[in-house]
Amino acid sequence: MNKKVAFYTLGCKLNYSETSSIGRLFTQAGFNTVEFSDTPDVFVINTCSVTENADKKCKKIVKEALKISPNAYVTIVGCYAQLKPKEIAEIPGVDMVLGAAEKFRIVEYLTDLTKNPKTLVYNQPVSEANEFVPSFSFGDRTRTFLKVQDGCDYSCTFCTIPLARGASRSDTIENAVAQAVEIAESGVKEIVLTGVNLGDFGIRNGNREDKFFDLVKALDEVDGIERIRISSIEPNLLSDEIIEFVSTSKRFVPHFHIPLQSGSDKILGLMRRRYRRDLYASRVAKIKEVMPHCCIGVDVIVGFPGETREDFVDTYNFLNELDVSYLHVFTYSERENTPAAEMTGTVPGSARADRSKMLHILSDKKRRAFYETQLGKADEVLFEGDIKDGFMHGFTRNYVKVKAKYDPVLVNEIKTVHLTTISSDGDVEITESAEVLVH
Ligand code: SF4
Repeated sequence: MNKKVAFYTLGCKLNYSETSSIGRLFTQAGFNTVEFSDTPDVFVINTCSVTENADKKCKKIVKEALKISPNAYVTIVGCYAQLKPKEIAEIPGVDMVLGAAEKFRIVEYLTDLTKNPKTLVYNQPVSEANEFVPSFSFGDRTRTFLKVQDGCDYSCTFCTIPLARGASRSDTIENAVAQAVEIAESGVKEIVLTGVNLGDFGIRNGNREDKFFDLVKALDEVDGIERIRISSIEPNLLSDEIIEFVSTSKRFVPHFHIPLQSGSDKILGLMRRRYRRDLYASRVAKIKEVMPHCCIGVDVIVGFPGETREDFVDTYNFLNELDVSYLHVFTYSERENTPAAEMTGTVPGSARADRSKMLHILSDKKRRAFYETQLGKADEVLFEGDIKDGFMHGFTRNYVKVKAKYDPVLVNEIKTVHLTTISSDGDVEITESAEVLVH
């Protein structure tokens, strides 16, 4: 009988797409992928260094795994495995730890599945993680994360990603297009284009070979994919040509997620970000000029060292004025081996929590205001397979979350609807529409 493998993923979209790729390697090697609780022979836990308490979570998952299958072989991969292999190796029950350069060779490393009293650690310095390993996630029929870029050459002072994932490197345009074709053929309607620093797409073996804009143009020609969403792009890399192209594109939807991190130029400088707030505001203005209905999401960090009350108010006011649709708020927490962790001006935990709360409230206000501008309009919704209290959800092209009475026929279908009201839970209610939209 085939051996069984189960996966557990912590962290970002990139990790999810990489877990799927690792899953396909196991399938090719004759394993069956099963649920975590289905007594697997092998567990693979894909970790994240950004997750709060990554070590505690990892320990807990290993413990649960061994409760389910006491003799199962436990392998840990991912960013945390690259950064802290020794700590992970000390977790009781872990059999193998693989770093960034090794994780896609996992099946080769798994020669024998007998548990060993000593944990095996294969972890080269991250500078060896030069190869680009393409990946995309399946499993969710509606949407697939297609990873086209990995690593980052920036040096933001709070970030461990360059340490965990190495230098910027990318797939070829040809290969990314081939993967998109494969995804389209599988019946998936939406691709979310992902990377660590997606806008930096195009570096291979340390040389710039392509531009992100060329990838965007090539993917726009892939028949069968209804929608392509750009997961996140640095403001300094979001050029006018990309914005203008998306505004007339057949497949790229009017939705950008652009990290801001702080609305204070002083803090942006300390973070070593590659833009200042005027540049950010100019990107938002350009988007809104050509796509007034575009959804814009913002990442922001509160409590960075040196962020005084005034600096925070500066950020708050900047965001309040900005025509954006929602915020992803992160509370700064010290990460070892980052310059920010050594900086003075530590913000007390209570102030970090207060600031986070204020921005969460601002985010709800922004989202509601954005949704209100969309009421009365018609848009296409891609319905998902979830059911909650008899309702299902979906997203419009511009990322308005809508709810409708569950109907299995609608799952993974795109329908034109009218957006009517905002329900008490904040989602938008709809009625059917006979309109045919032209993009
Ligand atoms: S751009 Fe900055 S925050 Fe983003 S991955 Fe690179 S170093 Fe980290």
